[in-house]
Amino acid sequence: MQQPEKKEPSDLYRNHDVHMLLSKLLSGEIVTLEPVYDSETGYRYPVVEAIVGEASRVEPFLKNLYDAGVLEKKLYDKIIFCPKCSSANVSIHYCCPFCKSYNIQKSSLVEHVKCGYMDVEEKFSEGDVRICPKCQEELVKIDVDYRKAGIWCTCKDCGKSFDIPVPTHFCRNCHTTSTFEEAIIKDAYSYTLKENVTAESSLNWFLVAAIRELLSNEGLTVESPSLLKGKSGANHTFDIVAYKGDKSQKAIVVDLAMSTGTVVSEQPVIALFAKIFDVSPERAFLIAIPKLSENGKKMTELYKIRAIEAKNQEEAIASLKKSLKTA
Ligand SMILES: [Zn+2]
Ligand SMILES: [Zn+2]
Ligand SMILES: [Zn+2]
Repeated sequence: MQQPEKKEPSDLYRNHDVHMLLSKLLSGEIVTLEPVYDSETGYRYPVVEAIVGEASRVEPFLKNLYDAGVLEKKLYDKIIFCPKCSSANVSIHYCCPFCKSYNIQKSSLVEHVKCGYMDVEEKFSEGDVRICPKCQEELVKIDVDYRKAGIWCTCKDCGKSFDIPVPTHFCRNCHTTSTFEEAIIKDAYSYTLKENVTAESSLNWFLVAAIRELLSNEGLTVESPSLLKGKSGANHTFDIVAYKGDKSQKAIVVDLAMSTGTVVSEQPVIALFAKIFDVSPERAFLIAIPKLSENGKKMTELYKIRAIEAKNQEEAIASLKKSLKTA
């Protein structure tokens, strides 16, 4: 096991809210966490709001999970906020580049292929048919008789024409118009679970977090994962190590072993034995989920390893607690 990076995942996994969201994602109840549009605030994540309680806590909550490598994010949309009142109820106005009015008429430019006459589409309409205003010929087939030659806009205020309008943002809440330069634009993301986050890996994290908490509450100093130097001079990594008082005291070591099948093999028992033979801790626990193989169980008795078999986190914590009380 590697040493944790700057953000310790176990701190995150101790969090009940994280547990709630992860179980929804792991169970498939949520496949992709998508934001839901809200005209006032922009985007919201109602599922997450229901878990964390307050809308203001959603963003830092999701950011933490992303930073810790639990969630993957994908750009979903960009939200434009009014620079004056911060509302997300903002629309786009396409404006005249000359007088800035948004009272413009958008049309298509149409060209009569045969005579070359070009004008806005409306000039060609006569009832239900298209007639060239220059040569009076009827235009039937697009790309044969006539073709669309682009977009043409006319300002209804100053009367000038142009092909590219200037976009501005109009706040429907406070009626302020703002330019692209002034606009506040934020990213909205959809989230999915990182591929390597599985039911097993997160159970492992949750369990480590819960065990750390239990041992700390017992007044022990806890490290996880932790490296202990053995008599042979070799270093051994344990999932959790706890001391009564300082590090010179004998330690309690805990390893976790999980199986996606029905039983945990004797392999983690052998691995733990090899380490404790060298390190000589006061007590060694092996937490096996869901249970140990018969052979593995016999070996734990022989090697003086306390085996804790549990179907889930709650069971594991309860029996570890009980086992700690008995000397
Ligand atoms: Zn506004
Ligand atoms: Zn014509
Ligand atoms: Zn104009």
